[in-house]
Amino acid sequence: MERVLAPRSGICFSLKKGQRLKVMDPYGEQVSDLYCFNSEDLKESLSSGRSIDYNDTIFLTTGHTLYSNRCSAMLRIVEDSCGRHDFMLTPCSSEDCHPSCHENLAIHFAPHGIHDDDISTTFNIFMNVEVEPNGSIRIEKPKSLAGDQIVFEACMDLLVGLTACSHEQTNNGHCKPIHFEILTGGFSESLTQGQATGLG
Ligand SMILES: [Zn+2]
Repeated sequence: MERVLAPRSGICFSLKKGQRLKVMDPYGEQVSDLYCFNSEDLKESLSSGRSIDYNDTIFLTTGHTLYSNRCSAMLRIVEDSCGRHDFMLTPCSSEDCHPSCHENLAIHFAPHGIHDDDISTTFNIFMNVEVEPNGSIRIEKPKSLAGDQIVFEACMDLLVGLTACSHEQTNNGHCKPIHFEILTGGFSESLTQGQATGLG
């Protein structure tokens, strides 16, 4: 079942190994920040630097894997209709806007014993950061069109935080909702019982 993240909001949920998370931009040009922890050991968390290093690119898309601070695969990107996301910038903070992605993540991670200082660089779905040959960067409007989506598959049991970004500039002037869905038996729905056997 598809769920709606209201503009400028966030959520936290568990994603089991093998489950898929679909994040969809219903109106276009809307960013969604993602951060995650190993649900079995919260000291293991998403690492931008590790992921950029191991994928040899700053622009992660279908076929790339998001790694942890301990070099373990956390999420694999299995579908991506947009093709442009950011993994360099931290979530927007209370210095930028209120409520911010960092605040929204912190509020929803807190009941799990996660301190806001433990939230590092997020995978910024649909965020468009242009990089010049001299290394200078600038935030441009997202390339995502209405209905664009990205699908991740969990490589371990995860606690995932997700936002609908609150920063107007990042979202071309308007903060909009984000839709998401956890796909469990989702892929096997169109298969017969026999074909579905063994999919887990
Ligand atoms: Zn944000």
